[in-house]
Amino acid sequence: MGFKALGLHPAVLKGVEAMGFTDPSPIQLRAIPEVLAGKDFIGSAQTGTGKTAAFGLPILSKLEEGKSQPGQPRCLVLEPTRELAAQVETAFRDYGRFCNLKTLVIYGGVGFDKQKRGLKGVTDTVIATPGRLLDHLQDGAVDFSGLEFLVLDEVDRMLDMGFLPDVRRIVEKTRKERQTLLLTATLPPEIERLASWVLHNPVIVEIGARRCPADSVDHAFYPVAADQKFDLLLALLDRTNYDSVLIFVRTKESADRIASRLRHANHSVAVLHSNRTQREREEALNGFKSGRYEVMVATDIASRGLDISGVSHVINFDIPQHPEDYVHRIGRTGRASATGTAFTLVVAEEAGNMQAIERFIGRSIERKKLDGFNYFYTALFDEHTTKALGGGGVRGGRHMSGYSFGTRRNRR
Ligand code: AMP
Repeated sequence: MGFKALGLHPAVLKGVEAMGFTDPSPIQLRAIPEVLAGKDFIGSAQTGTGKTAAFGLPILSKLEEGKSQPGQPRCLVLEPTRELAAQVETAFRDYGRFCNLKTLVIYGGVGFDKQKRGLKGVTDTVIATPGRLLDHLQDGAVDFSGLEFLVLDEVDRMLDMGFLPDVRRIVEKTRKERQTLLLTATLPPEIERLASWVLHNPVIVEIGARRCPADSVDHAFYPVAADQKFDLLLALLDRTNYDSVLIFVRTKESADRIASRLRHANHSVAVLHSNRTQREREEALNGFKSGRYEVMVATDIASRGLDISGVSHVINFDIPQHPEDYVHRIGRTGRASATGTAFTLVVAEEAGNMQAIERFIGRSIERKKLDGFNYFYTALFDEHTTKALGGGGVRGGRHMSGYSFGTRRNRR
């Protein structure tokens, strides 16, 4: 079934055509009719499945039929990070390019007054991160008493980042008779409580929820002694045919440190983390997307939702602390049916994290060694120690004896 049969506004259909979309994705097929019918919904779709259009297209269709008053937006989309807010704004502008609608993005780290003037004018859709939006609400720049649509996107991420109290404060200022859509990859009790408060008889759309990585991603663990992590990273980069590599690290400080060491080794490197200014973050992301930087070092801020096409390799320099972040991180590669590769460096103390990830995705992950790399001993190379470290590490043991050599020839 094509988009035409879904009942979207003709101007929105034209936008969809101009984007080159021919067939709706499964989440779009399920969500678009429900949103057009006025239902609240909980969607547990992974990014990369077309979820932005799943809520964006029907909302734009309905907005196109009405009119906004100055200072009274009709649709609010909350996002956990500035990058996601900017990405959803671009999607709304793209999908709605033949509509007569205005979209405004609001996030911190940039000037307040210009945003305030924008909010006081006519805006149909506001796409915002919670903190800065609350500042504007307290300042009286915007009034959500006429709000028709509220979208809470990436709610599990907002929970992780401690934004739910802010989200609640914002929701309290919106009109009760609104239509609300909530998107989240997981439904822990905190989000269930929020959902039962914020949604009215929701339809639950669970298409595309992905606990396991896409088949198009080839991924493996690379056990290594802690002292050799950076050397192994360099060796992996040296021996891999990559187009662009996204490297995930645990902290902002280590992101800066690893980036600077990679620059010394003559790699072109961008850095993305939340201590950087908005301008620096944009420069990093745009430079990485355009190919000016081959490598981007990032904290988990980049693991969710960012639609960066053409990432050929993801390297987890630090194993993710939350198993679901593994799926998000390596989901930055192998998108839109291209193939991708993900390496995860692990040290002995992280055996438990490895097993948590395997339990989460329901599959064992191959352990690999880089051919020709002069490895120091690590307890992870020893089957018995791995079992003792990880508790029930039979899988680890099985893989340890079956090392394979997984990287391609030297690209340089
Ligand atoms: P999202 O899951 O919203 O981040 O979307 C992921 C990517 O898929 C974006 O680059 C969209 O432009 C693209 N996309 C969304 N819907 C479709 C569709 N029906 N056909 C082809 N591409 C799509």
